[in-house]
Amino acid sequence: MKVRLAKRTGFCFGVKRAVLMAEAALKEKGSIYSLGSLIHNGQVTRVLAAKGLKIAKSESAIKSGTCVISSHGISPLIAKRISDRGVKVIDTTCPFVLRAQRIAKSKSLAGYGVIIVGDAKHPEIKALVGFVSTQAIVVRDGLEARGLKLDPKAKYIVIAQTTQGRANFAEAVKAISAKRTKGLKVFNTICRDAGERQGAAMRLARTVDVIFVVGGRSSANTRRLYEVSKRRAKIAHLIEAEDEVRLSWLKGVSSVGITSGASTPEWVVNKVVKKILEKGAVH
Ligand code: SF4
Repeated sequence: MKVRLAKRTGFCFGVKRAVLMAEAALKEKGSIYSLGSLIHNGQVTRVLAAKGLKIAKSESAIKSGTCVISSHGISPLIAKRISDRGVKVIDTTCPFVLRAQRIAKSKSLAGYGVIIVGDAKHPEIKALVGFVSTQAIVVRDGLEARGLKLDPKAKYIVIAQTTQGRANFAEAVKAISAKRTKGLKVFNTICRDAGERQGAAMRLARTVDVIFVVGGRSSANTRRLYEVSKRRAKIAHLIEAEDEVRLSWLKGVSSVGITSGASTPEWVVNKVVKKILEKGAVH
């Protein structure tokens, strides 16, 4: 049985940077907080917890010490509330997320309404909305965009959650453009890693009997990868770790593809490869 890896697996640049920054702070301080999960990956979260990382469910729970902010970013108001309490803030916001925040802030200050294509409940979008000084509208897809009631006299910009699917963003932009508002500017803020990862997964999915997408079920980019892989592959499975690989999934399979979400470390991918090769040898 042949096992092929997608061109991009393992941590993306932004997650790798966030984990390295958190590990350096843990080494220095012994124990620090993260506001919510630092990373949407159970295995890495457990490793960081063993090194002293404590997850605070709300900012009010952090009264002192050091707090690390995830690569998804944080609303400026909440960041201020935390630092006003004397808590040291280590901000690992990914540079691609920062770009979207800068655009949202500067364009809303210039009078544009901001339409974000993404998931309103995701931490990145909750933070991004905090940078908008005018009206922030979040739509999930083209269908929701079609239902928007926009002011024909107002100016709007459209930006994307960094891990959006390109096709989904394009469909939403098309629906918004059809509304013929006064001025519409589109900024594609999908990060390069997310776009290339999806492209590599789609290409691989077409060439194998079954594709495994390795990553946290709570990770937006992992779920997106699974969606695009599923559309191209004969069979696709989303798994978080090697112990989820079932022997029956490999019956009669001659080629397996593996891709991973941006918050899945290389060592988890390697364990999945090993398990598939072991189980595949049984058939
Ligand atoms: S997926 Fe992209 S935007 Fe998100 S952390 Fe990784 S590099 Fe940054």
